[in-house]
Amino acid sequence: MVSLTVQQKLEILADAAKYDASCASSGAKRAGNGKGIGHSDGNGICHSYTPDGRCISLLKLLLTNYCTYDCVFCVNRVSSDIRRARFTPEEIVSLTLDFYKRNYIEGLFLSSGIIQSPDYTMEQLVQVAKTLRTVHYFGGYIHIKAIPGCAERLLEEAGTYADRLSANIELPTQADLVQLAPEKKSHVIEGTMGHIHDHKAGLDEERSRFRSTPKFAPAGQSTQMVIGATPSTDRQIIQRANHLYTSYKLRRVYYTGFSPYPEADTRLPLQASPMVREHRLYQADWLMRYYGFAADEITTEDKPELDLSIDPKLAWARRHPEFFPVDINAAAREALLRVPGIGYGSVDRILRIRKYHKLSIEDLRKLHVRLKDAEHYIIAADHLPIHEVTIFDVAQKAIESEVRAAASESISKVEAALPAMQMQLFTQAANSAVSGVL
Ligand code: SF4
Repeated sequence: MVSLTVQQKLEILADAAKYDASCASSGAKRAGNGKGIGHSDGNGICHSYTPDGRCISLLKLLLTNYCTYDCVFCVNRVSSDIRRARFTPEEIVSLTLDFYKRNYIEGLFLSSGIIQSPDYTMEQLVQVAKTLRTVHYFGGYIHIKAIPGCAERLLEEAGTYADRLSANIELPTQADLVQLAPEKKSHVIEGTMGHIHDHKAGLDEERSRFRSTPKFAPAGQSTQMVIGATPSTDRQIIQRANHLYTSYKLRRVYYTGFSPYPEADTRLPLQASPMVREHRLYQADWLMRYYGFAADEITTEDKPELDLSIDPKLAWARRHPEFFPVDINAAAREALLRVPGIGYGSVDRILRIRKYHKLSIEDLRKLHVRLKDAEHYIIAADHLPIHEVTIFDVAQKAIESEVRAAASESISKVEAALPAMQMQLFTQAANSAVSGVL
């Protein structure tokens, strides 16, 4: 076997890691020009978000792209004819520290193909995190893969050193796994997620009573699902994601559209999953996590696929005209969250501002509400949606014009009577001056 240099391994294993969607900007390359500051290398630097919302650069690597499994959709599967490489844990530790000291990265994202057994692979990943934390006192961010089916003690150890753990669900349903990833089982993957969840919940609860209890995976757990490799519908995907969020309190489900590769297995589709489908699934995911939508509301039994031409909130609004218009100045938070074009940040601002004055369309524009969508579904201080204008506005205008006509008639009568009244008052005043009687 040809021995590879660390640089050669880095090229192979950073490239192989790009298929994991948790860090979407992997592979960006921008050479410094010597004048400004900053330099991003093509090999394995990617960006991710920490729990407090900071965007950080991560060294994104596989420990190895050897794998004993044969997941049909995966470039690293055992039957794939690719260049293979494997880092030792010490090499990854040294690369991480080296990149960190040069200010290239703020953390490590480490995954791996499965070598020998889930336990053996997980031990290697844990060793990297443990060495970084306990030998080098590395304080940067660490995200490592939890290998489904590995021993619980390894998961517990991993969460002691890592900020985030993620076990990949891989495909939307168990039937999909049987078809394309026969060695993977839903119940094993969920068993791993379940143990991470239970152990974290136990320690978090203990920590609320004893501050000395060590933190466990403080950035929680996430997972990744390949979409478009099987005929599973968007409804099935969304329901699956919802199940993972509610059962294991996942922070994120990442969706990766399948892309075909040369000489792929005949069980795989020839067409890539459209990027827009991935985008719509992320929007649907946000509706569940931040906007109070139930998974079943986002699509219907009759139309289980998302409409790719519009965002899922707008699609829901069009299916539910009975819910609208929503009065921006009076509706509950839950109702405002369902208005197309209004983000949850804007909802909070609307709720704050309307305590002091009624919001107009111009106010909403300043809050960056997407009025193109929202205006058809809202009532504001100076606005009714077009379809409501025909009902309310006409009535209001008719009332206003009647009031105006009545007022003008009264004014005319008063004006006509005014000279006679003035003359009468003048006569009375003159008589009382003569008679001395008031
Ligand atoms: S276990 Fe992971 S790395 Fe191995 S073939 Fe399956 S998806 Fe690829």
